[in-house]
Amino acid sequence: MEDNYRHKGMRRNLVEQLRRKGISDEAVLDAMLNLPRHFFLEKAFEEWAYEDKAFPIGNEQTISQPYTVAYQTTLLDIHQGDKVLEIGTGSGYQAAVLAMLGAHVYTVERQKNLYERTSELLKKIQLDSIHTFYHDGSNGLVEFAPFDKILVTAAASEIPEVLVKQLKINGILVVPIGDNVVQQMHKITRISNKTIDVQKLDNFRFVPFLAGKV
Ligand code: SAH
Repeated sequence: MEDNYRHKGMRRNLVEQLRRKGISDEAVLDAMLNLPRHFFLEKAFEEWAYEDKAFPIGNEQTISQPYTVAYQTTLLDIHQGDKVLEIGTGSGYQAAVLAMLGAHVYTVERQKNLYERTSELLKKIQLDSIHTFYHDGSNGLVEFAPFDKILVTAAASEIPEVLVKQLKINGILVVPIGDNVVQQMHKITRISNKTIDVQKLDNFRFVPFLAGKV
């Protein structure tokens, strides 16, 4: 897989676009500047990799828009060594951004062929701090809980209580919540065993969070 000066140039432009759109977390921007997004799309679509757009990756799924990845990652406030659960591996790009920031990433995908394709890719690019699972994220990942951070990259219809329970105290859950047309980004912090703080932020549009494996 090649990452040449042309890709790097396109990536610099993308990061400048993200800055203009309000992303200001330098660590996040730096991770995105250094991670070749075109590795996560099929070769034929290489030119599209550095547009600030979502893109189909097959199986009716999409690689999230770079702005959305930057936005969700900023909310997670990743620190070196954080244990992070991602629901919805998809292309693997978001998981790779988290790994670039020093997180240990546990990412689950309910679609077998996406899981297989992306696991292979992540092995190839040697991001060893990402662990992939063919698993229904509705149950979280109880064997590896609790997590410092949990990220949902599909649209939920309500606050996923199962996931809240798998957060450490002071842990953060970032999840888009709404109907199938529009969702509002939620940042949920687990204050104690019984209390959570809920911040409701901007609107986005994600593919649906579905139960069961296929
Ligand atoms: N983070 C991905 C975005 C992929 S789109 C990326 O960077 O490319 C969301 C993904 O969530 C899809 O691949 C979809 O199959 C998956 N998904 C939806 N519901 C799920 C569930 N209950 N458990 C696991 N994965 C789920």
